Amino acid sequence: MRTPAPGEAPARVGVVGAGTMGGGIAMSLANAGLEVVLVERDAQALERGWKTMQHNYAASVAKGRLSEEAMRERLGRIRPSLSLEDLGDAGLVIEAAFEDMAVKRDIFTKLDAICAPHAILASNTSRLDIDEIAGFTARPARVLGMHFFSPANVMRLLEVVRGKATSPETLGVAFALARRMGKLPVLVGVCDGFVGNRMVSPYTREAHFLLEEGASPRQVDGALERFGLAMGPLRMADMAGLDISWAFRKRTAPTRPRHLRYSRVADRLCEQGRFGQKTGAGFYRYEAGSRAPVPDPEVDALIEACAREDGIERQAISDETIVARTMYALVNEGARILEEGIASCASDIDVIYVHGYGFPAFRGGPLFYACEVGLPEVLASIRQFHARHGELWEPAPLLERLVREGKTFYDL
Ligand code: NAD
Repeated sequence: MRTPAPGEAPARVGVVGAGTMGGGIAMSLANAGLEVVLVERDAQALERGWKTMQHNYAASVAKGRLSEEAMRERLGRIRPSLSLEDLGDAGLVIEAAFEDMAVKRDIFTKLDAICAPHAILASNTSRLDIDEIAGFTARPARVLGMHFFSPANVMRLLEVVRGKATSPETLGVAFALARRMGKLPVLVGVCDGFVGNRMVSPYTREAHFLLEEGASPRQVDGALERFGLAMGPLRMADMAGLDISWAFRKRTAPTRPRHLRYSRVADRLCEQGRFGQKTGAGFYRYEAGSRAPVPDPEVDALIEACAREDGIERQAISDETIVARTMYALVNEGARILEEGIASCASDIDVIYVHGYGFPAFRGGPLFYACEVGLPEVLASIRQFHARHGELWEPAPLLERLVREGKTFYDL
Protein backbone atom coordinates (compact mmCIF):
# COMPACT_ATOMS: atom_id res chain seq x y z
CA MET A 1 0.00 0.00 0.00
CA ARG A 2 1.39 3.40 -0.95
CA THR A 3 0.18 6.80 0.22
CA PRO A 4 -2.29 7.90 -2.46
CA ALA A 5 -1.74 10.78 -4.85
CA PRO A 6 -3.36 14.00 -3.63
CA GLY A 7 -6.87 14.74 -4.80
CA GLU A 8 -8.94 17.82 -4.19
CA ALA A 9 -10.82 18.29 -0.93
CA PRO A 10 -14.57 18.75 -1.55
CA ALA A 11 -15.93 22.19 -0.66
CA ARG A 12 -19.12 20.87 0.92
CA VAL A 13 -19.08 17.97 3.34
CA GLY A 14 -21.91 16.16 5.09
CA VAL A 15 -21.74 14.66 8.58
CA VAL A 16 -24.34 12.17 9.81
CA GLY A 17 -24.78 12.07 13.61
CA ALA A 18 -24.12 15.02 15.93
CA GLY A 19 -22.91 13.00 18.92
CA THR A 20 -19.44 12.91 20.47
CA MET A 21 -17.68 12.23 17.19
CA GLY A 22 -19.97 13.86 14.62
CA GLY A 23 -19.96 17.17 16.50
CA GLY A 24 -16.15 17.19 16.74
CA ILE A 25 -15.78 16.25 13.06
CA ALA A 26 -18.20 19.01 12.02
CA MET A 27 -16.21 21.57 14.08
CA SER A 28 -12.96 20.38 12.55
CA LEU A 29 -14.40 20.78 9.04
CA ALA A 30 -15.82 24.22 9.82
CA ASN A 31 -12.49 25.29 11.36
CA ALA A 32 -10.86 24.44 8.01
CA GLY A 33 -13.29 26.75 6.19
CA LEU A 34 -15.50 24.02 4.72
CA GLU A 35 -19.28 24.17 4.46
CA VAL A 36 -20.86 21.42 6.55
CA VAL A 37 -24.34 19.93 6.60
CA LEU A 38 -24.84 18.12 9.91
CA VAL A 39 -27.72 15.64 9.91
CA GLU A 40 -29.34 14.12 13.02
CA ARG A 41 -32.21 11.70 13.37
CA ASP A 42 -34.26 13.81 15.81
CA ALA A 43 -34.55 17.40 16.96
CA GLN A 44 -33.53 16.68 20.53
CA ALA A 45 -30.23 15.02 19.55
CA LEU A 46 -29.54 17.82 17.09
CA GLU A 47 -30.17 20.46 19.75
CA ARG A 48 -27.87 18.62 22.16
CA GLY A 49 -25.11 18.33 19.53
CA TRP A 50 -25.46 21.99 18.58
CA LYS A 51 -25.22 23.11 22.21
CA THR A 52 -22.08 21.03 22.74
CA MET A 53 -20.41 22.62 19.71
CA GLN A 54 -21.44 26.09 20.88
CA HIS A 55 -20.13 25.33 24.36
CA ASN A 56 -16.78 24.06 22.99
CA TYR A 57 -16.30 27.14 20.81
CA ALA A 58 -17.33 29.43 23.69
CA ALA A 59 -14.68 27.76 25.88
CA SER A 60 -12.02 28.62 23.25
CA VAL A 61 -13.28 32.21 23.17
CA ALA A 62 -13.14 32.42 26.97
CA LYS A 63 -9.51 31.20 26.88
CA GLY A 64 -8.68 33.89 24.32
CA ARG A 65 -7.87 31.31 21.62
CA LEU A 66 -10.69 32.33 19.29
CA SER A 67 -12.46 35.63 18.61
CA GLU A 68 -16.24 35.95 18.95
CA GLU A 69 -16.38 36.72 15.26
CA ALA A 70 -14.44 33.59 14.29
CA MET A 71 -16.75 31.53 16.49
CA ARG A 72 -19.81 32.96 14.71
CA GLU A 73 -18.22 32.34 11.32
CA ARG A 74 -17.40 28.75 12.14
CA LEU A 75 -20.82 27.97 13.56
CA GLY A 76 -22.28 29.73 10.51
CA ARG A 77 -20.59 27.17 8.25
CA ILE A 78 -22.42 24.29 9.95
CA ARG A 79 -25.96 23.84 8.68
CA PRO A 80 -27.98 21.61 11.00
CA SER A 81 -30.57 19.36 9.40
CA LEU A 82 -32.98 16.53 10.19
CA SER A 83 -33.02 15.11 6.68
CA LEU A 84 -30.44 13.06 4.80
CA GLU A 85 -31.99 14.56 1.64
CA ASP A 86 -30.02 17.73 2.43
CA LEU A 87 -26.79 15.87 1.59
CA GLY A 88 -27.60 15.75 -2.13
CA ASP A 89 -24.87 18.23 -3.08
CA ALA A 90 -22.15 17.11 -0.63
CA GLY A 91 -18.92 15.95 -2.27
CA LEU A 92 -18.17 13.68 0.69
CA VAL A 93 -20.26 12.46 3.62
CA ILE A 94 -18.82 11.21 6.92
CA GLU A 95 -21.19 8.95 8.85
CA ALA A 96 -20.75 9.07 12.65
CA ALA A 97 -23.98 7.46 13.88
CA PHE A 98 -24.31 4.53 16.30
CA GLU A 99 -21.82 1.64 16.11
CA ASP A 100 -24.38 -0.82 14.81
CA MET A 101 -24.31 -2.49 11.39
CA ALA A 102 -28.10 -2.21 10.97
CA VAL A 103 -27.85 1.57 11.50
CA LYS A 104 -24.95 1.82 9.04
CA ARG A 105 -26.87 -0.27 6.50
CA ASP A 106 -29.89 2.00 6.70
CA ILE A 107 -27.82 5.18 6.38
CA PHE A 108 -25.53 4.00 3.56
CA THR A 109 -28.43 2.61 1.51
CA LYS A 110 -30.19 5.96 1.77
CA LEU A 111 -27.04 8.02 1.13
CA ASP A 112 -26.32 5.97 -1.98
CA ALA A 113 -29.72 6.95 -3.37
CA ILE A 114 -29.53 10.61 -2.30
CA CYS A 115 -25.91 11.62 -3.02
CA ALA A 116 -24.49 12.43 -6.46
CA PRO A 117 -22.83 9.41 -8.13
CA HIS A 118 -19.34 10.94 -7.76
CA ALA A 119 -19.79 11.68 -4.02
CA ILE A 120 -17.63 9.78 -1.54
CA LEU A 121 -19.22 8.03 1.45
CA ALA A 122 -17.08 7.53 4.56
CA SER A 123 -17.78 5.84 7.89
CA ASN A 124 -16.17 6.81 11.18
CA THR A 125 -16.78 3.30 12.54
CA SER A 126 -14.25 2.10 15.15
CA ARG A 127 -14.49 -1.60 14.39
CA LEU A 128 -17.11 -2.50 11.81
CA ASP A 129 -16.21 -3.99 8.43
CA ILE A 130 -15.83 -1.26 5.79
CA ASP A 131 -16.22 -3.83 2.98
CA GLU A 132 -19.60 -4.88 4.33
CA ILE A 133 -20.63 -1.21 4.58
CA ALA A 134 -19.43 -0.57 1.00
CA GLY A 135 -21.62 -3.51 -0.05
CA PHE A 136 -24.75 -1.56 0.98
CA THR A 137 -24.04 0.83 -1.89
CA ALA A 138 -23.67 0.65 -5.67
CA ARG A 139 -20.42 2.68 -5.39
CA PRO A 140 -17.97 0.55 -3.35
CA ALA A 141 -15.01 2.26 -5.05
CA ARG A 142 -16.15 5.51 -3.43
CA VAL A 143 -16.64 4.13 0.09
CA LEU A 144 -13.95 4.12 2.78
CA GLY A 145 -13.39 4.49 6.51
CA MET A 146 -12.31 7.78 8.04
CA HIS A 147 -11.59 6.86 11.63
CA PHE A 148 -11.18 10.02 13.69
CA PHE A 149 -10.05 10.00 17.31
CA SER A 150 -11.85 11.59 20.23
CA PRO A 151 -12.12 14.57 20.70
CA ALA A 152 -12.22 14.82 16.91
CA ASN A 153 -11.80 18.61 16.87
CA VAL A 154 -8.55 18.27 18.85
CA MET A 155 -6.88 14.97 17.93
CA ARG A 156 -4.82 15.12 14.74
CA LEU A 157 -4.63 11.43 13.95
CA LEU A 158 -6.95 9.99 11.30
CA GLU A 159 -6.90 6.37 10.16
CA VAL A 160 -7.96 6.35 6.50
CA VAL A 161 -9.35 2.87 5.99
CA ARG A 162 -9.05 1.39 2.51
CA GLY A 163 -11.72 -1.17 1.68
CA LYS A 164 -10.99 -3.85 -0.90
CA ALA A 165 -12.84 -1.86 -3.57
CA THR A 166 -11.83 1.69 -2.49
CA SER A 167 -10.24 3.47 -5.48
CA PRO A 168 -6.94 5.39 -5.31
CA GLU A 169 -8.86 8.54 -6.37
CA THR A 170 -11.17 8.17 -3.37
CA LEU A 171 -8.17 7.83 -1.06
CA GLY A 172 -6.58 10.86 -2.71
CA VAL A 173 -9.65 12.97 -1.90
CA ALA A 174 -9.78 11.68 1.69
CA PHE A 175 -6.09 12.51 2.18
CA ALA A 176 -6.57 15.97 0.69
CA LEU A 177 -9.52 16.61 2.99
CA ALA A 178 -7.57 15.35 6.00
CA ARG A 179 -4.66 17.65 5.23
CA ARG A 180 -6.99 20.60 4.68
CA MET A 181 -8.39 19.86 8.16
CA GLY A 182 -4.86 19.84 9.58
CA LYS A 183 -5.12 16.14 10.40
CA LEU A 184 -2.42 13.51 10.21
CA PRO A 185 -3.86 10.82 7.91
CA VAL A 186 -2.45 7.28 7.96
CA LEU A 187 -3.57 4.66 5.44
CA VAL A 188 -4.73 1.38 7.00
CA GLY A 189 -6.53 -1.74 5.83
CA VAL A 190 -9.71 -3.44 7.00
CA CYS A 191 -9.59 -5.65 10.10
CA ASP A 192 -11.24 -5.63 13.52
CA GLY A 193 -10.07 -2.39 15.16
CA PHE A 194 -7.88 -1.31 12.20
CA VAL A 195 -4.35 -0.57 13.50
CA GLY A 196 -4.72 1.43 16.70
CA ASN A 197 -7.64 -0.27 18.43
CA ARG A 198 -6.52 -3.72 17.30
CA MET A 199 -3.19 -3.18 19.06
CA VAL A 200 -4.91 -1.83 22.16
CA SER A 201 -6.65 -5.18 22.75
CA PRO A 202 -3.57 -7.29 23.64
CA TYR A 203 -2.05 -4.34 25.50
CA THR A 204 -5.13 -3.98 27.69
CA ARG A 205 -5.39 -7.74 28.07
CA GLU A 206 -1.88 -7.90 29.56
CA ALA A 207 -2.57 -4.93 31.87
CA HIS A 208 -5.58 -6.82 33.29
CA PHE A 209 -3.65 -10.11 33.58
CA LEU A 210 -0.90 -8.28 35.50
CA LEU A 211 -3.50 -7.08 37.99
CA GLU A 212 -4.58 -10.65 38.65
CA GLU A 213 -0.97 -11.79 38.92
CA GLY A 214 -0.18 -9.32 41.70
CA ALA A 215 0.11 -5.71 40.49
CA SER A 216 -2.22 -2.92 41.62
CA PRO A 217 -3.86 -0.48 39.17
CA ARG A 218 -1.56 2.28 40.43
CA GLN A 219 1.50 0.11 39.88
CA VAL A 220 0.56 -0.82 36.31
CA ASP A 221 -0.25 2.79 35.39
CA GLY A 222 2.76 4.13 37.31
CA ALA A 223 5.23 1.81 35.56
CA LEU A 224 3.90 2.78 32.12
CA GLU A 225 3.71 6.48 32.94
CA ARG A 226 7.33 6.38 34.15
CA PHE A 227 8.14 4.65 30.85
CA GLY A 228 6.71 7.79 29.24
CA LEU A 229 3.07 7.11 28.36
CA ALA A 230 0.81 10.13 28.80
CA MET A 231 -1.60 7.95 30.77
CA GLY A 232 -1.50 4.33 31.96
CA PRO A 233 -4.07 1.89 30.52
CA LEU A 234 -6.33 1.75 33.60
CA ARG A 235 -6.58 5.51 34.10
CA MET A 236 -7.18 5.75 30.38
CA ALA A 237 -9.98 3.17 30.57
CA ASP A 238 -11.58 5.07 33.46
CA MET A 239 -11.48 8.23 31.37
CA ALA A 240 -12.90 6.64 28.21
CA GLY A 241 -15.65 4.79 30.12
CA LEU A 242 -15.51 1.08 30.98
CA ASP A 243 -19.05 0.51 29.69
CA ILE A 244 -17.99 0.97 26.05
CA SER A 245 -15.54 -1.94 26.01
CA TRP A 246 -17.93 -3.95 28.24
CA ALA A 247 -20.65 -3.63 25.59
CA PHE A 248 -18.15 -4.82 22.98
CA ARG A 249 -17.09 -7.81 25.13
CA LYS A 250 -20.72 -8.80 25.73
CA ARG A 251 -21.43 -8.56 22.01
CA THR A 252 -18.46 -10.73 21.08
CA ALA A 253 -18.70 -13.16 24.04
CA PRO A 254 -20.38 -15.94 22.00
CA THR A 255 -17.34 -16.18 19.68
CA ARG A 256 -14.64 -15.83 22.36
CA PRO A 257 -12.39 -18.91 22.37
CA ARG A 258 -13.13 -20.59 25.73
CA HIS A 259 -9.74 -22.25 26.10
CA LEU A 260 -7.89 -18.92 26.28
CA ARG A 261 -7.29 -17.04 29.53
CA TYR A 262 -9.78 -14.23 30.11
CA SER A 263 -9.69 -11.64 32.88
CA ARG A 264 -13.08 -10.86 34.42
CA VAL A 265 -11.81 -7.86 36.40
CA ALA A 266 -13.26 -5.21 34.06
CA ASP A 267 -16.58 -7.09 33.72
CA ARG A 268 -16.92 -7.29 37.52
CA LEU A 269 -16.25 -3.57 37.87
CA CYS A 270 -18.97 -2.84 35.30
CA GLU A 271 -21.42 -5.22 37.01
CA GLN A 272 -21.02 -2.99 40.08
CA GLY A 273 -21.83 0.09 38.01
CA ARG A 274 -18.22 1.25 38.07
CA PHE A 275 -17.90 2.73 34.58
CA GLY A 276 -14.94 5.00 35.33
CA GLN A 277 -14.78 8.76 35.86
CA LYS A 278 -18.37 9.31 34.73
CA THR A 279 -19.71 7.23 37.63
CA GLY A 280 -17.07 8.37 40.13
CA ALA A 281 -15.54 4.89 40.24
CA GLY A 282 -13.77 2.41 37.96
CA PHE A 283 -10.29 0.98 38.45
CA TYR A 284 -9.96 3.92 40.85
CA ARG A 285 -12.28 6.09 42.91
CA TYR A 286 -12.90 9.77 42.06
CA GLU A 287 -13.95 12.53 44.46
CA ALA A 288 -16.85 14.63 43.20
CA GLY A 289 -15.64 17.13 40.60
CA SER A 290 -12.12 15.68 40.50
CA ARG A 291 -10.36 13.64 37.82
CA ALA A 292 -7.57 12.55 40.16
CA PRO A 293 -7.54 8.73 40.52
CA VAL A 294 -7.64 7.51 44.13
CA PRO A 295 -6.64 3.86 44.79
CA ASP A 296 -9.61 1.89 46.09
CA PRO A 297 -9.29 -1.12 48.45
CA GLU A 298 -12.60 -2.44 47.05
CA VAL A 299 -10.94 -2.80 43.66
CA ASP A 300 -7.95 -4.58 45.21
CA ALA A 301 -10.36 -7.03 46.85
CA LEU A 302 -12.23 -7.57 43.59
CA ILE A 303 -8.97 -8.26 41.72
CA GLU A 304 -7.86 -10.70 44.44
CA ALA A 305 -11.20 -12.51 44.22
CA CYS A 306 -10.89 -12.86 40.42
CA ALA A 307 -7.36 -14.23 40.80
CA ARG A 308 -8.48 -16.69 43.47
CA GLU A 309 -11.36 -17.98 41.35
CA ASP A 310 -8.97 -18.65 38.48
CA GLY A 311 -6.32 -20.24 40.72
CA ILE A 312 -3.77 -17.51 39.99
CA GLU A 313 -1.11 -17.16 42.64
CA ARG A 314 -0.41 -13.46 43.23
CA GLN A 315 3.15 -12.26 43.68
CA ALA A 316 5.25 -9.09 43.49
CA ILE A 317 5.56 -7.77 39.94
CA SER A 318 8.37 -5.45 38.83
CA ASP A 319 7.99 -2.31 36.70
CA GLU A 320 10.23 -3.99 34.17
CA THR A 321 7.84 -6.91 33.80
CA ILE A 322 4.87 -4.56 33.47
CA VAL A 323 6.58 -2.64 30.67
CA ALA A 324 7.79 -5.76 28.87
CA ARG A 325 4.43 -7.56 29.00
CA THR A 326 2.41 -4.58 27.76
CA MET A 327 4.93 -3.21 25.24
CA TYR A 328 5.80 -6.55 23.68
CA ALA A 329 2.10 -7.34 23.38
CA LEU A 330 1.87 -4.18 21.24
CA VAL A 331 4.97 -5.13 19.28
CA ASN A 332 3.84 -8.70 18.54
CA GLU A 333 0.43 -7.50 17.31
CA GLY A 334 2.10 -4.68 15.35
CA ALA A 335 4.28 -7.28 13.60
CA ARG A 336 1.17 -9.27 12.58
CA ILE A 337 -0.49 -6.10 11.31
CA LEU A 338 2.58 -5.35 9.18
CA GLU A 339 2.75 -8.89 7.87
CA GLU A 340 -0.94 -8.83 6.90
CA GLY A 341 -0.41 -5.53 5.06
CA ILE A 342 -2.97 -3.72 7.26
CA ALA A 343 -0.29 -1.06 7.76
CA SER A 344 2.14 -0.25 4.94
CA CYS A 345 5.23 0.27 7.07
CA ALA A 346 6.48 0.29 10.66
CA SER A 347 6.57 4.07 10.84
CA ASP A 348 2.81 4.26 10.08
CA ILE A 349 2.12 2.11 13.14
CA ASP A 350 4.46 4.22 15.23
CA VAL A 351 2.84 7.46 14.05
CA ILE A 352 -0.59 6.08 15.00
CA TYR A 353 0.64 5.20 18.47
CA VAL A 354 2.42 8.46 19.16
CA HIS A 355 -0.40 10.65 17.85
CA GLY A 356 -3.46 8.65 18.88
CA TYR A 357 -2.53 6.77 22.04
CA GLY A 358 -0.19 9.01 24.05
CA PHE A 359 2.86 6.84 23.30
CA PRO A 360 6.02 8.77 24.25
CA ALA A 361 7.40 10.49 21.13
CA PHE A 362 10.95 10.23 22.46
CA ARG A 363 10.67 6.45 22.20
CA GLY A 364 9.62 6.73 18.57
CA GLY A 365 6.59 4.41 18.77
CA PRO A 366 6.26 0.74 19.79
CA LEU A 367 8.02 -0.78 16.77
CA PHE A 368 10.86 1.73 16.82
CA TYR A 369 11.23 1.06 20.55
CA ALA A 370 11.43 -2.69 19.86
CA CYS A 371 14.19 -2.07 17.30
CA GLU A 372 16.05 0.03 19.88
CA VAL A 373 15.79 -2.74 22.47
CA GLY A 374 16.91 -5.19 19.79
CA LEU A 375 14.51 -7.59 18.08
CA PRO A 376 16.42 -10.71 19.25
CA GLU A 377 15.92 -9.62 22.85
CA VAL A 378 12.27 -8.77 22.29
CA LEU A 379 11.68 -12.15 20.64
CA ALA A 380 13.46 -13.97 23.46
CA SER A 381 11.09 -12.33 25.99
CA ILE A 382 8.04 -13.12 23.85
CA ARG A 383 9.17 -16.76 23.66
CA GLN A 384 9.45 -16.85 27.46
CA PHE A 385 5.96 -15.36 27.81
CA HIS A 386 4.72 -17.90 25.27
CA ALA A 387 6.20 -20.79 27.27
CA ARG A 388 4.74 -19.44 30.51
CA HIS A 389 1.41 -17.93 29.47
CA GLY A 390 0.56 -19.94 26.35
CA GLU A 391 -1.05 -19.41 22.98
CA LEU A 392 -1.85 -15.70 23.32
CA TRP A 393 1.90 -15.07 23.15
CA GLU A 394 2.64 -17.03 20.00
CA PRO A 395 5.49 -15.03 18.36
CA ALA A 396 4.51 -13.23 15.16
CA PRO A 397 6.10 -15.02 12.17
CA LEU A 398 7.42 -11.70 10.81
CA LEU A 399 9.28 -11.02 14.06
CA GLU A 400 10.87 -14.48 13.91
CA ARG A 401 11.88 -13.95 10.28
CA LEU A 402 13.42 -10.54 10.95
CA VAL A 403 15.47 -11.93 13.82
CA ARG A 404 16.60 -14.84 11.64
CA GLU A 405 17.67 -12.43 8.91
CA GLY A 406 19.30 -9.94 11.29
CA LYS A 407 16.89 -7.18 10.17
CA THR A 408 14.56 -4.73 11.93
CA PHE A 409 10.99 -3.51 11.28
CA TYR A 410 12.52 -0.45 9.67
CA ASP A 411 14.41 -2.53 7.05
CA LEU A 412 11.13 -3.64 5.45
P1 NAD B 1 -22.78 9.01 19.97
O1 NAD B 1 -23.77 8.06 20.53
O2 NAD B 1 -22.19 10.06 20.83
O3 NAD B 1 -23.41 9.75 18.71
C1 NAD B 1 -24.10 9.10 17.68
C2 NAD B 1 -25.15 10.08 17.15
O4 NAD B 1 -25.68 9.53 15.95
C3 NAD B 1 -26.30 10.29 18.12
O5 NAD B 1 -26.44 11.67 18.39
C4 NAD B 1 -27.53 9.73 17.36
O6 NAD B 1 -28.70 10.45 17.61
C5 NAD B 1 -27.07 9.87 15.92
N1 NAD B 1 -27.76 8.95 15.00
C6 NAD B 1 -28.04 7.65 15.20
N2 NAD B 1 -28.69 7.16 14.12
C7 NAD B 1 -28.78 8.17 13.23
C8 NAD B 1 -29.36 8.29 11.93
N3 NAD B 1 -29.95 7.25 11.35
N4 NAD B 1 -29.28 9.47 11.30
C9 NAD B 1 -28.67 10.54 11.90
N5 NAD B 1 -28.12 10.48 13.13
C10 NAD B 1 -28.17 9.31 13.78
O7 NAD B 1 -21.62 8.10 19.32
P2 NAD B 1 -20.13 8.50 18.99
O8 NAD B 1 -19.26 8.20 20.15
O9 NAD B 1 -20.10 9.87 18.40
O10 NAD B 1 -19.77 7.43 17.87
C11 NAD B 1 -20.19 7.57 16.53
C12 NAD B 1 -19.40 6.63 15.65
O11 NAD B 1 -18.02 6.97 15.74
C13 NAD B 1 -19.50 5.16 16.02
O12 NAD B 1 -19.47 4.37 14.85
C14 NAD B 1 -18.26 4.95 16.87
O13 NAD B 1 -17.83 3.61 16.88
C15 NAD B 1 -17.27 5.84 16.16
N6 NAD B 1 -16.14 6.29 16.97
C16 NAD B 1 -16.30 6.68 18.26
C17 NAD B 1 -15.21 7.14 18.99
C18 NAD B 1 -15.36 7.63 20.42
O14 NAD B 1 -14.33 7.76 21.11
N7 NAD B 1 -16.55 7.92 20.89
C19 NAD B 1 -13.93 7.22 18.39
C20 NAD B 1 -13.81 6.85 17.05
C21 NAD B 1 -14.91 6.39 16.35
